[in-house]
Amino acid sequence: MNVLKTIRNYYFYCGIEKDEYNAIKKEAYISNFEVWRILHFLMATVFCVLYAISLQNSLVEINRTFYLTGLVYSVVAIMLFFILRKDSILAQFLIYASMSFLFLFAIFINLNKPDHNATTFIVFLLVMPMFMIDKPYWMTVELVAASTVFLTWMHSVKPLEIWYIDLVNVIVYTIVGCFINVIANSLRIREFVLTREIRIQRDTDEMTGLRNKGSLTREINSFLEDKNSNKGMLFVLDVDHFKSINDVYGHDVGDDVIIQLGKYLGSKFTKGEIVGRFGGDEFIIFIKKADDLDKAVKTAEDLAEGVADNVKLPDADKKVSISIGIAAYNGVETNYSEIFKKADMAMYTAKGDPERRVYTYEP
Ligand code: GH3
Ligand code: MG
Repeated sequence: MNVLKTIRNYYFYCGIEKDEYNAIKKEAYISNFEVWRILHFLMATVFCVLYAISLQNSLVEINRTFYLTGLVYSVVAIMLFFILRKDSILAQFLIYASMSFLFLFAIFINLNKPDHNATTFIVFLLVMPMFMIDKPYWMTVELVAASTVFLTWMHSVKPLEIWYIDLVNVIVYTIVGCFINVIANSLRIREFVLTREIRIQRDTDEMTGLRNKGSLTREINSFLEDKNSNKGMLFVLDVDHFKSINDVYGHDVGDDVIIQLGKYLGSKFTKGEIVGRFGGDEFIIFIKKADDLDKAVKTAEDLAEGVADNVKLPDADKKVSISIGIAAYNGVETNYSEIFKKADMAMYTAKGDPERRVYTYEP
C-alpha cells in the first residue's frame, strides 16, 4: 500500500502530499509561465532563422511553410503571454498548446522526409518534460497523445522498416520522457516547498502563529499601494496593564495571555483581514475595503468584550482588558506607518479613559 501511495504522490503531486502541492501550485504555474515566455522568444528566433535559411538554401526549402507557421504561432503566443495572468489556468493551457504545436511541427517536417528517422520528434519527447512543473500525469497525457498521433500518421507515410524503428524509439523515449518529467518535477517542487516554509517562518509570530511585524507592514503597504484599494480600517490593540499581569502571575501566564489573545483574534477575523502581533502585547487588525466607522467601533467593542470573556487569567474573577484605537483609510495615505500613527494615538486616548475601551482617530 505504501508503495502505491508513493507512486500516486509522485505521479499526481510531484512527490509531496496533496495539501502541500495545492499550496504551492500557483507558484509552479508562475514559474512555468516565466520559463515558457522566454522559450517562446527562443522559438520565434529559431523559426525566424530557419525561415530565413529556407529562403536561401534549397535543402530546407521544403519546410519553409512550416517554419513560417512556427514563427507566426510563436509571435501570437508571445502576445498572449502579455495578456494572460501568470497564475491562470489559461496560461498553462497555452503552454500545453505550444507543446502540441511543436510535436505537430515535428510530425510535419517528418512527412517531408519519410525515409529519415523521427529525430526532431524524439528530441522534443526528451526536452519538453524538463520544462513543465505540473502534475506528471498531464505530461504523460501530452506525450502519449503526441506519440500516438505520430505513430498512427507515420504508419501510412513511412516505409515499414523505418516505421518499426520509430515505433521502438518513440515508445522507449515516451517512457523516458515521462520519467524525466517526474524527476524534474519532484526536484523543482521541493524548492518551492522549501521557499514557502522559509517565507512562512519569516512572516509568522512564533508565539501566536499570527503575522509578525514585518509581514503586517509588507501586507498592509502592498494593499495601500494598490491603486484599486481606497478603503480600510486599521485597529491597533494593546493589553491594559500587561506588565502587572507579568508581575503578579509571572511571565509564563503573561505569555499564555498573549497566546490566548492571538488565538481569539485569529478565530474572530477569518475573512481576509490582515491580523498580526506587532510586538509585546500590541496587535494589529486591518479590515480591507471597510468604510463604515460606526460598524468598526461596534466590532471593536464586541472584540474588547469577547477578550474579557474568553482570555482567562488564573484568578477567575479577574478579566483581561484591552484598548483599541481605530483609524480609517480613505485612499490618502500611501504608507502603513501614517495610518498606524493615527490608530496608535486613538488607542492611547482609550488608555486614558477607564470608561471607554475604543476610540477612533479624530484629526
Ligand atoms: P498599558 O496599559 O499602558 O499598555 O501598560 P502595560 O503594562 O501593558 O505596558 P506596555 O503595553 O507598555 O508594556 C508591555 C509589556 O509587555 C512590556 C514587557 O515587559 C511585556 N512583554 C513584551 N513582550 C512579552 C512577551 O512576549 N511575554 C511576556 N510575558 N511579556 C512581554
Ligand atoms: Mg499594554
